[in-house]
Amino acid sequence: MPEVPGLPPSGQLLIGLARLGQAVRMQAWRNGGPHGLSPLQADIVTMLQARPGAVRQGEIVADLASTAPTVSDAVKALRKKDLVEGTRDPGDARVLLVGLTESGRAEAARLNEPSEVLTGAVDALSPEDLAAMLRGTTALIRRLQDHRAIPVSRMCLTCRFFVPHAHPEPTGRPHHCNFVDAPFGDAELRVTCPDHEPG
Ligand code: SF4
Repeated sequence: MPEVPGLPPSGQLLIGLARLGQAVRMQAWRNGGPHGLSPLQADIVTMLQARPGAVRQGEIVADLASTAPTVSDAVKALRKKDLVEGTRDPGDARVLLVGLTESGRAEAARLNEPSEVLTGAVDALSPEDLAAMLRGTTALIRRLQDHRAIPVSRMCLTCRFFVPHAHPEPTGRPHHCNFVDAPFGDAELRVTCPDHEPG
């Protein structure tokens, strides 16, 4: 029987993921907003918003898998736009702590508004496909984190409150979150969560 042409399924999946990454990046460029933010500047603003206080510049570099000079340039640009402010760490004057200004918090709220194009595409998935994609995506992220190919993110699979397959099937909600003490299914797996604590 003749083979289906093209790369094998793993190669097709990687190309598909790259295409999705392109779509997300394109939306980020289109969503520069009133301050003309680059995607990296927008990532810094939303990352800072998820933190309870100012963070070291080095943490931004690690969290966004970027480089020190690139993040330093982006932080300088954000300071010029009055979206972030830098203060010296009281414990070590050589360290710069970066936090959002009031306009930075307003901009973070704008950036958190979901893109209609992307959300519309995701909303068109069936509940089963959405759950399967979340399960596959979190498994891939976890594997890449184990290989230090990407930074560890605040997701269920690395959270101390996560208990996978704690409840017998067929409940449809096999996992358990000890933070809220509730069962949940694959479709509710978090890729980023404000209450995450490293496991
Ligand atoms: S606290 Fe958040 S990341 Fe942790 S298990 Fe619960 S939902 Fe998942």
